[in-house]
Amino acid sequence: MENPETREGLTPGWPYPDWLDRFAATMNPGLARVFRFMGLDEVEATGAGAELVDAAGRRFLDCSGGYGVFLHGYRHPRLVEAARRQLDHLAMSSRVLLNPRTIELAELLAEVTPGDLTYSFFTNSGTEAVEAALKFARAATGRTRLISTWGAFHGKSMGALAVSGRALYQEPFRPLIGDVTHVAYGSLDALEQELGDDVAAVILEPIQGEGGVIVPPDGYLAGARRLTEACGALLIADEVQTGLGRTGDLFAVNHEGVVPDLLCLSKSLSGGIVPVGAVVGRPGVWEFFNEAPLIHTSTFGGNPLATAVAAEAIRVVLDEDLVGAARRQGAWLLPALQDVARDYPTVLSTVRGRGLMIGMETASTGVGGALMSELFHRGVVAVYTYNNERVLRLLPPLVIRRDQLELVVDRLREAAAAVAAMHLEEVPDAAR
Ligand code: PLP
Repeated sequence: MENPETREGLTPGWPYPDWLDRFAATMNPGLARVFRFMGLDEVEATGAGAELVDAAGRRFLDCSGGYGVFLHGYRHPRLVEAARRQLDHLAMSSRVLLNPRTIELAELLAEVTPGDLTYSFFTNSGTEAVEAALKFARAATGRTRLISTWGAFHGKSMGALAVSGRALYQEPFRPLIGDVTHVAYGSLDALEQELGDDVAAVILEPIQGEGGVIVPPDGYLAGARRLTEACGALLIADEVQTGLGRTGDLFAVNHEGVVPDLLCLSKSLSGGIVPVGAVVGRPGVWEFFNEAPLIHTSTFGGNPLATAVAAEAIRVVLDEDLVGAARRQGAWLLPALQDVARDYPTVLSTVRGRGLMIGMETASTGVGGALMSELFHRGVVAVYTYNNERVLRLLPPLVIRRDQLELVVDRLREAAAAVAAMHLEEVPDAAR
């Protein structure tokens, strides 16, 4: 009899012949076309460490890390065990009685986040964490204006989308929330010109992720902190992508000793097991909750299954020194990738980043897709950044081994050679 889970028996030796068609028929036909064009027609089956395994048993080194989710690698044993343990108690909370797992995560975050960041509000995703931070900033300051940066990515719910910096994702949904100003990322002059006593908050990624892995000039975050403080605006650090060690410090704001008023986390806080998000704030920001404790809530936010895993995810980062691993592996990987770029200038123009958050800028539009596809067919997963299609980002699990990174560099060299031979730089943009 046919097994409805695996469709085994439909085509011997090829158990999932039609998943992409089924995805197209019931979910997103447009995205299915892109997947087909890229040759991405396999389904995932399992994973361990930095390796993702598809249903046909092919193994990939996952250098996109689920867009930054798999900081601990796939199915880290301690995190799988934390989830299992919690399932024997309560996965969700009554929300009438207190849940110890949720409080423990808040305590741990208060301990590991910089300065006097103390209070946590839990969500289920990054965009919800940003949404909460924007609301809290308005409530705490009594001001409305929000300042963000071009190229920023903060999520796709109405508020987070309004402070993101790419028109393509915003236009069909206007009007978004109002009173938002965008300035050039990395420029303190641009920020200073817009700041005033009507500004509730400035929201910044310490390194722009989806904008193309843009590392700001030294002193930018510290300068933004000084300028916001001077006019009574809050500073929101969106560490949804950079948080928990990826950049070689537990939080990327630590590189400049900055304590933001609100810090957003998600992605890797899930341990790659259960979705979760958090916004952590300084005591002064939380005062408005005293007036109306239920003014912002989430049914599933802070559920014990997610928070039990998240707390263990933080402990794993500390116990296994994943922060040091990001620093050491990044220090080896970045120059190795830059060497490849030097050898294939028609394919790669620059490679930049910090720790294991690396962006490879391709030499022209169109090269990115070809390079991604060539890498994929050599067993390496690397994906575009949302707001800059010329940049392939590498966000490998921090548990990735040196021999695996050596393989990534070798495969990149082969892929770059294959793409260089296509002479895509000679194809006019309109023909691509
Ligand atoms: N903020 C940053 C910096 C992100 O990189 C992302 C997602 O890529 C988000 C927010 C949104 O997170 P989510 O997709 O979980 O809503």
